[in-house]
Amino acid sequence: MTIFQRILAGEIPAKIVHEDNDILAFHDIAPQAPVHILIIPKRLIPRVGEAHDSDAELLGRLLLVARDIAKVQGLDQTGYRLIINNGRDGGEEVPHLHIHLLGGRRLSWPPG
Ligand code: AMP
Repeated sequence: MTIFQRILAGEIPAKIVHEDNDILAFHDIAPQAPVHILIIPKRLIPRVGEAHDSDAELLGRLLLVARDIAKVQGLDQTGYRLIINNGRDGGEEVPHLHIHLLGGRRLSWPPG
């Protein structure tokens, strides 16, 4: 079980900001910005590289949930960044697809 599956199972606490039938979103435990929220599908997709064409609707909905959370968090005027790390060189640590929503400060580019 990944750490996110354990959060989904209620075994590990999380500060949840959104839940519906297919998606959960919660605050990152080690925030890299004033707002750092993770948006995950409840169904295990390890990473974008292992998503199927049939996941298209769910993948799209993850982005729309991120959009809605950004607005609730007051980031829609100042801006924010959505990040998906895929595999070793992408910096992926947890093999359960997640979108990072980062905002509340000016983010640098390019990333490290
Ligand atoms: P990634 O490197 O893209 O796989 O990101 C994994 C993210 O999960 C990191 O930003 C971690 O800080 C975060 N994380 C790990 N464990 C937890 C947890 N128990 N609750 C919330 N976020 C977590």
